[in-house]
Amino acid sequence: MSQNQDLKAEPSFRDSVDLMFDRAVALMDMSPGLKEKIRVCNATYTVRFGVRLRGQIHTFTGYRSVHSEHMEPVKGGIRYAPNVHQEEVEALAALMTYKCSLVEVPYGGSKGGLRINPRDWEEDELERITRRFAYELAKRDLINPSQNVPAPDMGTSEREMAWIADQYRRMNTTDINANACVTGKPLNAGGIAGRIEATGRGVQYGLREFFRYPEDVAAAKLSGSLSGKRVIVQGLGNVGYHAAKFLSEEDGCRITAIIERDGALHDEAGLNVQAVYDWIREHGGITGYPGAAHEPDGSKLLEADCDILIPAALEGTINLTNAHAIKAPLIVEAANGPVTAGADEILREKGCVIIPDMYANAGGVTVSYFEWVKNLSHIRFGRMQRRAEEARHQLLVDELERLSADKQLGWTLSPGFKERYLRGAGELELVRSGLDDTMRTAYQAMRTVWHGRSDVHDLRTAAYLVSIERVAASYRAKGL
Ligand code: GLU
Repeated sequence: MSQNQDLKAEPSFRDSVDLMFDRAVALMDMSPGLKEKIRVCNATYTVRFGVRLRGQIHTFTGYRSVHSEHMEPVKGGIRYAPNVHQEEVEALAALMTYKCSLVEVPYGGSKGGLRINPRDWEEDELERITRRFAYELAKRDLINPSQNVPAPDMGTSEREMAWIADQYRRMNTTDINANACVTGKPLNAGGIAGRIEATGRGVQYGLREFFRYPEDVAAAKLSGSLSGKRVIVQGLGNVGYHAAKFLSEEDGCRITAIIERDGALHDEAGLNVQAVYDWIREHGGITGYPGAAHEPDGSKLLEADCDILIPAALEGTINLTNAHAIKAPLIVEAANGPVTAGADEILREKGCVIIPDMYANAGGVTVSYFEWVKNLSHIRFGRMQRRAEEARHQLLVDELERLSADKQLGWTLSPGFKERYLRGAGELELVRSGLDDTMRTAYQAMRTVWHGRSDVHDLRTAAYLVSIERVAASYRAKGL
């Protein structure tokens, strides 16, 4: 088939998500009516608004799609990209429903988008545009702590979230929970420690969990531990950067290639992720980076020999045109929807193991949930638990000190033990351990289905089965 024919056969992103959903629900004993209800997007709001900038009115188009309200609030990021469109936002909203359900954060799925190239505008202009967009969404309860809680996604960061939170607060001055209207805020504006790194951290924890099961590692035709594995990362944005950094600095992985907009860098000995990231920030791309080979056609490196391929950029980057050529035996979908339904089939047939997006990148929304709970409880995260623990530990160390002073113990407490012991864990440690626990539990739920059912042959189908079953249970419980 020629490349053009290939592309013609490629379904859209939304159809791709639906095809994967259909493949999974075909294995479920569920009424066709309920299947259809879960699959469809409940509503998508499109807004066009004008902002006076540089002496003239500019019109912007934005979307907020709500996929499923089986739990509220609904949750999902807001993406800023020049070609974001309704179908894309709907596909992403659907993935949010399945993702939240899989990692058991109590939300329905939603997603937003604004058609804009953030690079075209100055910071103060972006602030005015963001505030106006937030106003349009908030007045329709599409930003609201109990109904719809956005977060960062491609093209947005904690800066935009701070503007959104402030805009909502101005519109709802008496809402004591206003801070919980959006997550991914800066630490000094109601955010939580560890949110920025969270999605990349989740990729790392997910991979670590995968490598705890030799049987699963063998299914990907790999062996041993994460240490020494050759990893190719596509996209050194927030997610790709943190995943690559943690895997190389903490797990002994070798990042043998980094693929970016302006080409790819490769080095079999392993790239220095921090140095590449700093270079990109300073120079706007990888071009000119010293000390590594440069390939102008970055997509070629997707097909290079490696142990683990981590697509962490846009949807659809692994598709019918290149799936046949992919050599990686293990793909971790750090991006949303990087592998199309057609490519998924080709890769499965080749025996490639794919750790699916709804699991692999769930670290972001998991820590968003911690942030939202922190905002609603109006108390520093973990503080209440810590108080209770402290009281218990206090009893223990007091007793130990007494016994030690009375020489009833064969040993004495080392200096400062009591203080160190009572200090306990800070917010960042609590966030990380909560995330780790979430990633492990969700992986185990997936692999139980993967290995336990003779009609399930891949992790994505297993993930869909676990997550759809929970959504269905919640619809059945509350009635439609
Ligand atoms: N945009 C992220 C995602 O795709 C985070 C969503 C959130 O934290 O609500 O999962």
